[in-house]
Amino acid sequence: MFKFRSVIAVLLALVTTLLVSCSSPTAAKPPTYTPTQLEQIQRYRTDVSALGDRLPELATLITTRRWTDVRTFIHGPLGELRIRMSKLTRTLLPNAQPRAQEIAQEVFEHLVKIDQAAENTNYELAIRNYNEAIKDLEAFFQLIPSA
Ligand code: ZN
Repeated sequence: MFKFRSVIAVLLALVTTLLVSCSSPTAAKPPTYTPTQLEQIQRYRTDVSALGDRLPELATLITTRRWTDVRTFIHGPLGELRIRMSKLTRTLLPNAQPRAQEIAQEVFEHLVKIDQAAENTNYELAIRNYNEAIKDLEAFFQLIPSA
């Protein structure tokens, strides 16, 4: 019985050693983007920034209190922003995705608030959420790797 146990122990030790030696090189290496992934990320990033670049138009509409146009702009061109941000988020490394998702959601919520503010002709609320949306979008882009 004693001998049998010691054989098991040796076997277990061997298995453990094998597992450790096999898994440690890959486990130690942090996940990185492949060139193909980076290429796709840059394409999606361009899609998001194309809309982000149009945000100043929204600022103009808010400051000139063209409330109907504010709402049309949010539901029209900016309606795509959330979809494009989610698409880009899903191309990120798994560990970067939760934060990106969170920020994308925040941007969306700020747009919803601007829409509500426009409905109630509430300039203060609209401009505050506009500034927040810009800040969040900048934070979002900081999570995106450059080419
Ligand atoms: Zn925010």
